[in-house]
Amino acid sequence: MPDGEPRSVPPPAPAGGSAHRLEVEVRADRADEVAAALWARGATGVWEQPGALVAWFAPAASTPSAATLGEVPGVPELATPKQRWSLEPERDWQAEWKRTIHPVQAGRVVVVPSWLADAHEPATGELTLVLDPGRAFGSGHHATTTLCLELLDALEVGGGLAGRTVADIGCGTGVLAIAAARWGAHVTAVDIDPDAVEVTRENAARNGVPLTTGVGSAPAIEGPVDVVVANLVTDVVIDLARALVAATGTTLIVSGIARERRDRALDALQAHGARTVEVRERDGWIAARLVVGADDGARA
Ligand code: SAM
Repeated sequence: MPDGEPRSVPPPAPAGGSAHRLEVEVRADRADEVAAALWARGATGVWEQPGALVAWFAPAASTPSAATLGEVPGVPELATPKQRWSLEPERDWQAEWKRTIHPVQAGRVVVVPSWLADAHEPATGELTLVLDPGRAFGSGHHATTTLCLELLDALEVGGGLAGRTVADIGCGTGVLAIAAARWGAHVTAVDIDPDAVEVTRENAARNGVPLTTGVGSAPAIEGPVDVVVANLVTDVVIDLARALVAATGTTLIVSGIARERRDRALDALQAHGARTVEVRERDGWIAARLVVGADDGARA
């Protein structure tokens, strides 16, 4: 996940009934790891807010306290003095949460949650994807996702993705892979998180596209493929730089890179032979399009 705001949209909170609410301060680049620890300890919902994560736990016989989570090695944010518990009154969580979710537009792509899909009227030329926010990243609300969708859309406009081979590294919900597949590309989508791969499969079926999916990362791509899109975190982009470039036939789209670490990430990719041709920035995040080989990448 990008090192910041990996879950700008809350996954489903407890459906009905009161819940225990835990708020912990979290730096943006730690949010993913802390969220994973909260899910592993039974959270029924995790919602990222600026500088904090809010998690809900089902009502228990005893009021949660500092001891409830126990010590979580490597996650100092959940240390005893930093836990702030409160009781949330009974509310219709699902209904409240759903009211906060709206369709998102990125280029010609519009991501619509399933409960709004029937009422949604696509504009001419729009590519509508039906995806629900949830445990996997990629509802379309995060800047890194929208930037990647916009760069994919520009590739599609510039030369067409139909018949091209595309790999989505770190597919999350599969949003990028599904968009490319809807434009006619042959897409492989991988993620190191098996849950994300499962979510991607479900979303591909819901959106009526075939995808090749698997648990894995860039080295698993039997490439090179025409287009690689990788919305990861800065450190992972740097660590995977060689494999990302090796997997790329022509065009590499990367995101999840914090603005202040832009040069470090792009230098790592360029050191392996990629050439940066376009950089876009939003909300402190950058996405870049690089080309590999002699082609200028205009047609993917
Ligand atoms: N592609 C989606 C999007 O653009 O919204 C999701 C991107 S999310 C920011 C990053 C995803 O990369 C997560 O699902 C995470 O599990 C996955 N990931 C993290 N490290 C990875 C790695 N080394 N190789 C493959 N996937 C990885």
